[in-house]
Amino acid sequence: MTYVVTEACIKCKFMDCVEVCPVDCFYEGENMLVINPNECIDCGVCEPECPAEAILPDTEDGLEEWLEINTKYSETWPNITVKGEPPADADDWQGKEGKKEFLSPNPGQGG
Ligand code: SF4
Ligand code: SF4
Repeated sequence: MTYVVTEACIKCKFMDCVEVCPVDCFYEGENMLVINPNECIDCGVCEPECPAEAILPDTEDGLEEWLEINTKYSETWPNITVKGEPPADADDWQGKEGKKEFLSPNPGQGG
């Protein structure tokens, strides 16, 4: 298994998760992060750190699509290990449904 970042991260991108990961397996897109499932050691310490509750174990139902998204983008987006500045409107997007259409395929800056 692995943990994956899901829809709730889109446009929130608080980045509290990146600094606790012992194997630095978060990757940054323009408006969300993903986990590299091949690098994640399933320790689970990032899950409670996420204010948006966006990080879930892939053993939960219905996460196949998010596992694919995490796998795909972690191959091309830059690694991130230091918390950056969240989007100015991140709080407005927290908990909103239907954010998937806003997922940007563009890479973030990394850091
Ligand atoms: S803490 Fe949660 S919302 Fe913030 S970047 Fe990490 S997964 Fe996304
Ligand atoms: S479960 Fe552990 S290894 Fe996997 S992304 Fe979270 S902190 Fe990193």
